[in-house]
Amino acid sequence: MHLHKSKQLFARAQQLIPGGVNSPVRAFKHVGGIPPFIASAKGAYLYDVDGNTYIDYVNSWGPMIMGHAYEPVVRAIQEQVQHSTSYGAPTELEVLLAEQILRMVPRIDQVRMVNSGTEACMTAIRLARGFTDKNKIIKFEGCYHGHADSFLVQAGSGVATLEIQEVPGVPSSVAADTLVAPYNNLQAVDTLLETYAGEIAAIIVEPVAGNMGCVLPLPGFLEGLQQRCQEQGIVFIVDEVMTGFRLAPGGAQERFQLDADLITFGKIIGGGLPVGAVGGKREIMSLLAPSGKVYQAGTLSGNPLAMIAGYTLLRELDLNRHIYEALEQKTQQLIDGLNTVFGKKAIVHQIPHIGSMLSVFFTEYPVHDFVAASAASNELFKQFFHAMLEKGIYLPPSPFESWFVSYALSDEDIAKTIKAAEESIEQILSR
Ligand SMILES: *Cc1c(COP(=O)(O)O)cnc(C)c1O
Repeated sequence: MHLHKSKQLFARAQQLIPGGVNSPVRAFKHVGGIPPFIASAKGAYLYDVDGNTYIDYVNSWGPMIMGHAYEPVVRAIQEQVQHSTSYGAPTELEVLLAEQILRMVPRIDQVRMVNSGTEACMTAIRLARGFTDKNKIIKFEGCYHGHADSFLVQAGSGVATLEIQEVPGVPSSVAADTLVAPYNNLQAVDTLLETYAGEIAAIIVEPVAGNMGCVLPLPGFLEGLQQRCQEQGIVFIVDEVMTGFRLAPGGAQERFQLDADLITFGKIIGGGLPVGAVGGKREIMSLLAPSGKVYQAGTLSGNPLAMIAGYTLLRELDLNRHIYEALEQKTQQLIDGLNTVFGKKAIVHQIPHIGSMLSVFFTEYPVHDFVAASAASNELFKQFFHAMLEKGIYLPPSPFESWFVSYALSDEDIAKTIKAAEESIEQILSR
């Protein structure tokens, strides 16, 4: 495998774009080396500009649950594009997507479409503050809710990967309103709730953390948060940008039988186009302008291409629910194979997983929070990542990111991945 053209493009990109990328983790800074520049993708495969093929476990960081260039979505976009790409006026497509979301996700009444997960989370927090007339929020260490000021405090994903402790440019006055507790730690939440009694607008949580690797909620954690919010008049925000439409047709809200006040969406909701949404109880949602005074807007929000892509993908998922079982089977197959490979060579490891999300931590201890995730071997992860890439397996370039299994992944692809893992481990051990 060579990366001549990628190398040249990366050099050019670095001159023109800070770090050569338009989103930090893509730069491979943590694992080192040159990121392959992608020329195209189809199904389970990525093709780079140097002619290398990869089996993809990133899937655009989540959206490509059916694999790349999924025919129904491609056709729907092609059909729509002839009728202009934006009007800045209401369309039937927005109604169709809103109806589709509310059909799939239980216990929410309204949605507002935005352009990214970041925007969805920003809007949710503003709504919570507007609704409660309070300023402070509680988030969890290692959870990522996009790059808005309020959330860049002990955030996961790229912030964790790049080991940025404090983000310059985030005013300390804003950061002071963001309180942080360790994931899965209700006691720490209770301490914050006592210390800041009457000041908390919202608790925001990833129902399955996917931005410090994949970390599952312990039994009772989410329910405990929800109960505290209900008792104390705090807005319970479940960030389903990653888990929405992935863990189940109705996401974590369905899978864990939650009753969130607000839910944020992104990734799968746009079928690979830039879309986010915030949904929730009518009582809170109706505060959004123009029905209420909490202002939020967007020139390209509800964009027709994005709406038709999202609507088409969600409808397929809704009508073909066996997809979710198949995804779990594929994921289990992969995990069984990896467990065997690592077990044979006595590589200590954990593979937390749920639905079609997983990640590999090289540690002997179970991972329930960011401290435990950080204690896993970075060095082994880096070596494993590069050995796998070399063999055509495209994993997220950080141990703090989830792997995603797509429906396009065949048994043969999974078998190839497991074989590559076996060879990679042998290679690493023989060094
Ligand atoms: C990706 C992600 C976001 C941010 O979404 P963008 O579309 O990248 O702005 C927010 N929350 C969670 C849980 C995410 O995984």
